[in-house]
Amino acid sequence: MMGEAGRHLADLGACEGAAGNISVCAHWPIEPRGRFPVAEVMELPQQVPELAGATLLVTGSGRRLREIGDDPAAHLACIVVHEGGKSGTLYTGLQRRFERVTSEFNSHLAVHYDQMALLGAWTNFHAVIHAQPVHLTYLSHIPRYQDEQYLNTHLLRWQPETIVQLPDGIGYLPFRVPSTPELMAANVEGLRKHRIVLWGKHGAMARSDVSVKRAADRIEYAETAARYEYLNLAAGEAGQGLSAEEIRAICRTFHVQQDIF
Ligand SMILES: [Zn+2]
Repeated sequence: MMGEAGRHLADLGACEGAAGNISVCAHWPIEPRGRFPVAEVMELPQQVPELAGATLLVTGSGRRLREIGDDPAAHLACIVVHEGGKSGTLYTGLQRRFERVTSEFNSHLAVHYDQMALLGAWTNFHAVIHAQPVHLTYLSHIPRYQDEQYLNTHLLRWQPETIVQLPDGIGYLPFRVPSTPELMAANVEGLRKHRIVLWGKHGAMARSDVSVKRAADRIEYAETAARYEYLNLAAGEAGQGLSAEEIRAICRTFHVQQDIF
């Protein structure tokens, strides 16, 4: 599934080179040694005591998302969290093609922890994806799209299903340096309110408690919306988009709770 999501994101043009990263966290016992026989202890970027025993699958630093499916054990690491949550066992394959896990692992772990343990919502599976879709990222360079209300009222107006798929809208996080604790904290906060956040001048991060492919779909819905918006800008803003009243009618019909329109 991580391989299929990686391919999907590549088809979207959202993970050039080795850009982007994917992780899943499953809170049930998994025996990783069949595929990942090499074991070593690693310190976790933050203590996650409630995730003791949980298993994370995460992309290796510098790996290409489009290649995960070809040989998952070469591109992924498997981390089983120890009792106490300060460290874990890092399991990797014999054909491992990376030194460290993704440099955004601090954000992935923090978001899994927040969603699975701290919010009190019962979930034993959680997926997080960071990717760099071109149109969405481009819009984040234009100052007026850095306002969350402006961003959402403009992007969610092009297709009827966008508000249904992203009823909490797209969160906006001002630029922070990649991999930093500041970006990590902003992701945790933003992904409490939204299922996808736009990282200013960088890319996006999406989550799902259903499947990794669902998280990839969220990136695609947001990127498609951004592509319409970009087309409209390039065409001299000839398009009207769905009106607020039309979007509210869609929400009434499909029982969507939203407070954007
Ligand atoms: Zn990135």
